Amino acid sequence: MNYGEVEQGYLFFKEGYYILEESLKLALSYFFNPGKRIHLLYLASSMLLAFWVFQSSNSNKSFLNYLFPKRIWLSKSAFIDYSLFAFNSLVKILFIGPFVIFGFYLAFHVNEFMLVNFGFPKNSLGVGETLFWYTITLTIAHDFTNYLVHFGMHRIPFLWEFHKVHHSATSLNPMTQYRIHPIELFINNIRSLLIFGIITGFFDYLSAHQIDKMVFLGVNVFHFAFLLLGANLRHSHVKLKYPKFLEYIFISPFQHQIHHSNNPDHFAKNMGSKLAIWDFFFGSLVLSKSVQKINFGISDESKKYNSFLKNLITPIKSIFNFLGTR
Ligand SMILES: [Zn+2]
Ligand SMILES: [Zn+2]
Repeated sequence: MNYGEVEQGYLFFKEGYYILEESLKLALSYFFNPGKRIHLLYLASSMLLAFWVFQSSNSNKSFLNYLFPKRIWLSKSAFIDYSLFAFNSLVKILFIGPFVIFGFYLAFHVNEFMLVNFGFPKNSLGVGETLFWYTITLTIAHDFTNYLVHFGMHRIPFLWEFHKVHHSATSLNPMTQYRIHPIELFINNIRSLLIFGIITGFFDYLSAHQIDKMVFLGVNVFHFAFLLLGANLRHSHVKLKYPKFLEYIFISPFQHQIHHSNNPDHFAKNMGSKLAIWDFFFGSLVLSKSVQKINFGISDESKKYNSFLKNLITPIKSIFNFLGTR
Protein backbone atom coordinates (compact mmCIF):
# COMPACT_ATOMS: atom_id res chain seq x y z
CA MET A 1 0.00 0.00 0.00
CA ASN A 2 1.45 3.35 -0.90
CA TYR A 3 0.99 6.61 0.95
CA GLY A 4 -1.85 7.77 -1.35
CA GLU A 5 -3.87 4.62 -0.69
CA VAL A 6 -3.41 4.95 3.06
CA GLU A 7 -4.57 8.55 2.93
CA GLN A 8 -7.59 7.60 0.81
CA GLY A 9 -8.48 4.83 3.26
CA TYR A 10 -8.19 7.28 6.14
CA LEU A 11 -10.46 9.81 4.41
CA PHE A 12 -13.00 7.12 3.61
CA PHE A 13 -13.03 5.98 7.22
CA LYS A 14 -13.29 9.57 8.45
CA GLU A 15 -16.24 10.28 6.16
CA GLY A 16 -18.01 7.08 7.27
CA TYR A 17 -17.44 7.96 10.91
CA TYR A 18 -18.78 11.49 10.35
CA ILE A 19 -21.96 10.16 8.68
CA LEU A 20 -22.58 7.70 11.53
CA GLU A 21 -21.97 10.40 14.13
CA GLU A 22 -24.42 12.76 12.38
CA SER A 23 -27.05 9.99 12.12
CA LEU A 24 -26.72 9.23 15.82
CA LYS A 25 -27.00 12.93 16.66
CA LEU A 26 -30.13 13.19 14.49
CA ALA A 27 -31.71 10.13 16.14
CA LEU A 28 -31.02 11.52 19.63
CA SER A 29 -32.22 15.02 18.69
CA TYR A 30 -35.74 13.58 18.20
CA PHE A 31 -36.08 13.42 22.01
CA PHE A 32 -35.29 17.15 22.34
CA ASN A 33 -36.88 18.62 19.21
CA PRO A 34 -40.31 20.14 20.03
CA GLY A 35 -41.44 19.43 16.44
CA LYS A 36 -40.95 15.67 16.92
CA ARG A 37 -43.45 13.32 18.46
CA ILE A 38 -41.06 11.64 20.89
CA HIS A 39 -39.81 14.89 22.50
CA LEU A 40 -39.53 14.27 26.26
CA LEU A 41 -42.37 16.73 26.97
CA TYR A 42 -44.84 14.80 24.78
CA LEU A 43 -43.68 11.48 26.20
CA ALA A 44 -44.39 12.91 29.67
CA SER A 45 -47.83 14.27 28.66
CA SER A 46 -48.64 10.88 27.09
CA MET A 47 -47.74 9.22 30.40
CA LEU A 48 -50.18 11.52 32.23
CA LEU A 49 -52.95 10.58 29.81
CA ALA A 50 -52.00 6.92 30.15
CA PHE A 51 -52.33 7.30 33.93
CA TRP A 52 -55.86 8.52 33.46
CA VAL A 53 -56.68 5.51 31.24
CA PHE A 54 -54.96 3.22 33.78
CA GLN A 55 -57.07 4.54 36.65
CA SER A 56 -60.32 3.99 34.81
CA SER A 57 -59.27 0.48 33.72
CA ASN A 58 -59.41 -1.06 37.25
CA SER A 59 -56.18 -2.88 36.54
CA ASN A 60 -54.60 -4.61 39.54
CA LYS A 61 -51.05 -4.05 38.24
CA SER A 62 -48.85 -1.15 39.34
CA PHE A 63 -48.85 1.82 36.95
CA LEU A 64 -45.23 1.15 35.97
CA ASN A 65 -46.00 -2.46 35.13
CA TYR A 66 -49.03 -1.33 33.18
CA LEU A 67 -47.02 1.22 31.20
CA PHE A 68 -43.82 -0.74 30.55
CA PRO A 69 -44.63 -4.42 30.08
CA LYS A 70 -41.54 -6.32 28.92
CA ARG A 71 -43.62 -8.28 26.41
CA ILE A 72 -44.11 -5.00 24.49
CA TRP A 73 -41.00 -2.88 25.02
CA LEU A 74 -38.55 -5.79 24.79
CA SER A 75 -40.37 -7.73 22.12
CA LYS A 76 -38.76 -8.73 18.83
CA SER A 77 -41.22 -6.42 17.09
CA ALA A 78 -40.06 -3.47 19.25
CA PHE A 79 -36.38 -4.12 18.47
CA ILE A 80 -37.22 -3.98 14.77
CA ASP A 81 -38.90 -0.59 15.42
CA TYR A 82 -35.79 0.69 17.20
CA SER A 83 -33.43 -0.54 14.51
CA LEU A 84 -35.53 0.90 11.68
CA PHE A 85 -35.63 4.23 13.53
CA ALA A 86 -31.81 4.23 13.66
CA PHE A 87 -31.48 3.11 10.05
CA ASN A 88 -33.94 5.73 8.80
CA SER A 89 -31.89 8.41 10.61
CA LEU A 90 -28.93 7.36 8.46
CA VAL A 91 -31.12 7.50 5.33
CA LYS A 92 -32.23 11.00 6.33
CA ILE A 93 -28.68 12.26 6.78
CA LEU A 94 -27.51 10.79 3.47
CA PHE A 95 -30.45 11.17 1.12
CA ILE A 96 -33.13 13.47 2.54
CA GLY A 97 -31.38 16.25 4.50
CA PRO A 98 -29.50 17.58 1.44
CA PHE A 99 -32.81 18.07 -0.42
CA VAL A 100 -34.82 19.92 2.24
CA ILE A 101 -33.69 23.18 0.63
CA PHE A 102 -35.95 22.34 -2.35
CA GLY A 103 -38.96 23.28 -0.21
CA PHE A 104 -37.62 26.85 -0.09
CA TYR A 105 -36.82 26.87 -3.83
CA LEU A 106 -40.36 25.77 -4.55
CA ALA A 107 -41.76 28.47 -2.22
CA PHE A 108 -39.64 31.07 -4.03
CA HIS A 109 -40.86 29.95 -7.46
CA VAL A 110 -44.52 29.82 -6.40
CA ASN A 111 -44.21 33.39 -5.11
CA GLU A 112 -42.53 34.48 -8.38
CA PHE A 113 -45.21 32.72 -10.43
CA MET A 114 -47.96 34.55 -8.56
CA LEU A 115 -46.22 37.93 -8.92
CA VAL A 116 -45.67 37.48 -12.66
CA ASN A 117 -49.21 36.33 -13.34
CA PHE A 118 -51.25 38.37 -10.89
CA GLY A 119 -49.04 41.32 -9.91
CA PHE A 120 -48.66 42.56 -6.36
CA PRO A 121 -51.65 41.66 -4.14
CA LYS A 122 -53.79 44.78 -3.58
CA ASN A 123 -54.55 44.05 0.05
CA SER A 124 -51.76 42.02 1.50
CA LEU A 125 -52.27 40.09 4.72
CA GLY A 126 -50.77 41.38 7.97
CA VAL A 127 -48.34 39.36 10.06
CA GLY A 128 -50.99 37.99 12.47
CA GLU A 129 -53.47 37.16 9.70
CA THR A 130 -50.77 35.48 7.65
CA LEU A 131 -49.61 33.26 10.49
CA PHE A 132 -53.21 32.39 11.41
CA TRP A 133 -54.34 31.42 7.90
CA TYR A 134 -51.02 29.92 6.95
CA THR A 135 -51.05 27.61 9.97
CA ILE A 136 -54.63 26.49 9.34
CA THR A 137 -54.11 25.97 5.60
CA LEU A 138 -50.86 24.09 6.09
CA THR A 139 -52.37 21.85 8.78
CA ILE A 140 -55.37 20.93 6.61
CA ALA A 141 -53.30 20.48 3.43
CA HIS A 142 -50.77 18.27 5.23
CA ASP A 143 -53.49 16.24 6.85
CA PHE A 144 -55.48 15.74 3.65
CA THR A 145 -52.46 14.79 1.53
CA ASN A 146 -51.30 12.48 4.33
CA TYR A 147 -54.67 10.77 4.11
CA LEU A 148 -54.42 10.49 0.30
CA VAL A 149 -50.92 9.03 0.42
CA HIS A 150 -51.92 6.64 3.20
CA PHE A 151 -55.00 5.65 1.17
CA GLY A 152 -52.69 4.91 -1.78
CA MET A 153 -50.40 2.88 0.51
CA HIS A 154 -53.31 0.60 1.35
CA ARG A 155 -55.07 0.50 -2.00
CA ILE A 156 -52.23 0.35 -4.56
CA PRO A 157 -50.67 -3.17 -4.35
CA PHE A 158 -47.12 -2.03 -5.07
CA LEU A 159 -47.25 0.64 -2.34
CA TRP A 160 -48.92 -1.74 0.12
CA GLU A 161 -45.81 -3.97 -0.13
CA PHE A 162 -43.79 -1.14 1.41
CA HIS A 163 -46.45 -0.04 3.90
CA LYS A 164 -46.68 -3.62 5.24
CA VAL A 165 -43.46 -2.84 7.14
CA HIS A 166 -45.41 -0.43 9.38
CA HIS A 167 -48.30 -2.86 9.75
CA SER A 168 -46.18 -5.91 10.43
CA ALA A 169 -45.55 -4.67 14.01
CA THR A 170 -47.15 -7.21 16.33
CA SER A 171 -46.93 -4.92 19.35
CA LEU A 172 -47.03 -1.13 19.36
CA ASN A 173 -44.84 1.38 21.20
CA PRO A 174 -44.17 5.07 20.38
CA MET A 175 -41.16 4.13 18.24
CA THR A 176 -43.42 2.09 15.92
CA GLN A 177 -44.24 5.49 14.39
CA TYR A 178 -40.79 5.31 12.75
CA ARG A 179 -41.09 1.67 11.63
CA ILE A 180 -41.43 2.42 7.95
CA HIS A 181 -39.57 1.32 4.84
CA PRO A 182 -37.10 3.96 3.53
CA ILE A 183 -39.19 4.13 0.33
CA GLU A 184 -42.20 5.23 2.40
CA LEU A 185 -39.92 7.73 4.14
CA PHE A 186 -39.01 9.21 0.73
CA ILE A 187 -42.63 9.37 -0.38
CA ASN A 188 -43.66 11.12 2.86
CA ASN A 189 -40.82 13.61 2.61
CA ILE A 190 -41.53 14.44 -1.03
CA ARG A 191 -45.20 15.00 -0.17
CA SER A 192 -44.26 17.16 2.78
CA LEU A 193 -41.77 19.28 0.78
CA LEU A 194 -44.30 19.87 -2.00
CA ILE A 195 -47.04 20.98 0.41
CA PHE A 196 -44.63 23.14 2.42
CA GLY A 197 -43.22 24.79 -0.72
CA ILE A 198 -46.55 25.48 -2.44
CA ILE A 199 -48.36 26.83 0.61
CA THR A 200 -45.41 28.79 1.95
CA GLY A 201 -44.87 30.41 -1.47
CA PHE A 202 -48.57 31.25 -1.72
CA PHE A 203 -48.66 32.90 1.71
CA ASP A 204 -45.37 34.62 1.05
CA TYR A 205 -47.14 36.20 -1.92
CA LEU A 206 -50.33 37.03 -0.01
CA SER A 207 -48.35 38.69 2.78
CA ALA A 208 -46.28 40.64 0.22
CA HIS A 209 -43.06 39.09 1.47
CA GLN A 210 -43.46 40.55 4.94
CA ILE A 211 -42.38 37.50 6.82
CA ASP A 212 -39.05 35.89 6.60
CA LYS A 213 -39.53 32.35 5.33
CA MET A 214 -37.83 30.95 8.38
CA VAL A 215 -40.82 32.12 10.42
CA PHE A 216 -42.89 29.74 8.35
CA LEU A 217 -40.94 26.89 9.88
CA GLY A 218 -42.00 27.99 13.39
CA VAL A 219 -44.00 25.87 15.75
CA ASN A 220 -47.44 25.08 14.45
CA VAL A 221 -49.92 25.37 17.33
CA PHE A 222 -52.16 22.62 15.97
CA HIS A 223 -49.27 20.24 15.65
CA PHE A 224 -48.13 21.17 19.17
CA ALA A 225 -51.62 20.47 20.58
CA PHE A 226 -51.76 17.15 18.72
CA LEU A 227 -48.38 16.10 20.12
CA LEU A 228 -49.19 17.26 23.63
CA LEU A 229 -52.54 15.47 23.69
CA GLY A 230 -51.14 11.98 23.57
CA ALA A 231 -50.04 11.42 19.94
CA ASN A 232 -47.56 8.88 21.36
CA LEU A 233 -50.40 6.69 22.59
CA ARG A 234 -51.50 5.94 19.04
CA HIS A 235 -48.69 3.41 18.86
CA SER A 236 -49.11 1.84 22.29
CA HIS A 237 -51.28 -0.61 24.22
CA VAL A 238 -53.00 2.27 26.08
CA LYS A 239 -56.58 2.36 24.86
CA LEU A 240 -57.27 6.10 24.91
CA LYS A 241 -60.65 6.69 23.28
CA TYR A 242 -62.39 10.02 22.65
CA PRO A 243 -66.10 10.73 23.13
CA LYS A 244 -68.05 9.52 20.08
CA PHE A 245 -68.71 12.98 18.55
CA LEU A 246 -65.02 13.90 18.79
CA GLU A 247 -63.95 10.73 16.95
CA TYR A 248 -65.75 12.06 13.88
CA ILE A 249 -63.39 15.06 13.91
CA PHE A 250 -60.09 13.81 15.38
CA ILE A 251 -58.55 10.33 15.20
CA SER A 252 -58.15 9.05 18.77
CA PRO A 253 -55.18 6.85 19.76
CA PHE A 254 -57.48 3.81 19.96
CA GLN A 255 -58.80 4.54 16.46
CA HIS A 256 -55.21 4.33 15.13
CA GLN A 257 -54.78 1.07 17.04
CA ILE A 258 -57.83 -0.22 15.15
CA HIS A 259 -55.96 0.77 11.97
CA HIS A 260 -53.24 -1.70 13.04
CA SER A 261 -55.71 -4.54 13.67
CA ASN A 262 -55.20 -7.78 11.73
CA ASN A 263 -58.97 -8.23 11.41
CA PRO A 264 -59.80 -7.93 7.66
CA ASP A 265 -62.82 -5.77 8.58
CA HIS A 266 -60.43 -3.13 9.84
CA PHE A 267 -58.13 -3.11 6.80
CA ALA A 268 -57.70 0.40 5.33
CA LYS A 269 -59.87 1.97 8.04
CA ASN A 270 -58.99 5.08 10.08
CA MET A 271 -56.25 6.22 7.72
CA GLY A 272 -56.39 9.83 8.91
CA SER A 273 -53.45 11.43 10.63
CA LYS A 274 -54.88 14.15 12.90
CA LEU A 275 -58.34 14.64 11.42
CA ALA A 276 -61.02 11.96 11.16
CA ILE A 277 -63.12 13.96 8.68
CA TRP A 278 -61.43 12.44 5.61
CA ASP A 279 -62.22 8.93 6.82
CA PHE A 280 -65.77 10.05 7.50
CA PHE A 281 -66.16 11.54 3.98
CA PHE A 282 -64.66 8.52 2.24
CA GLY A 283 -66.41 5.89 4.35
CA SER A 284 -63.33 4.49 6.08
CA LEU A 285 -64.07 5.65 9.63
CA VAL A 286 -64.42 3.14 12.48
CA LEU A 287 -65.33 4.43 15.95
CA SER A 288 -63.74 3.05 19.13
CA LYS A 289 -67.09 2.01 20.53
CA SER A 290 -67.65 -0.63 17.84
CA VAL A 291 -64.40 -2.52 18.56
CA GLN A 292 -63.49 -4.56 21.63
CA LYS A 293 -60.35 -6.60 21.15
CA ILE A 294 -57.53 -6.00 18.67
CA ASN A 295 -54.61 -8.15 17.59
CA PHE A 296 -51.92 -6.17 15.80
CA GLY A 297 -50.09 -7.20 12.64
CA ILE A 298 -50.77 -8.69 9.23
CA SER A 299 -51.56 -12.26 10.34
CA ASP A 300 -49.52 -14.96 8.61
CA GLU A 301 -47.52 -12.42 6.65
CA SER A 302 -46.01 -10.93 9.85
CA LYS A 303 -43.49 -13.81 9.72
CA LYS A 304 -41.98 -12.36 6.56
CA TYR A 305 -41.15 -9.21 8.54
CA ASN A 306 -39.75 -10.64 11.77
CA SER A 307 -36.23 -9.25 11.43
CA PHE A 308 -34.71 -5.87 10.63
CA LEU A 309 -33.25 -7.05 7.31
CA LYS A 310 -36.44 -8.82 6.24
CA ASN A 311 -38.29 -5.53 6.65
CA LEU A 312 -35.91 -3.83 4.25
CA ILE A 313 -35.76 -6.64 1.70
CA THR A 314 -39.17 -8.38 1.70
CA PRO A 315 -41.04 -5.49 -0.02
CA ILE A 316 -38.44 -5.31 -2.81
CA LYS A 317 -38.49 -9.09 -3.26
CA SER A 318 -42.30 -9.08 -3.37
CA ILE A 319 -42.30 -6.45 -6.08
CA PHE A 320 -39.87 -8.45 -8.22
CA ASN A 321 -42.01 -11.56 -7.70
CA PHE A 322 -45.09 -9.56 -8.60
CA LEU A 323 -43.47 -8.23 -11.79
CA GLY A 324 -42.19 -11.71 -12.65
CA THR A 325 -45.64 -13.24 -12.57
CA ARG A 326 -47.22 -10.66 -14.83
ZN1 LIG B 1 -51.65 2.09 7.27
ZN1 LIG C 1 -49.39 3.35 12.75
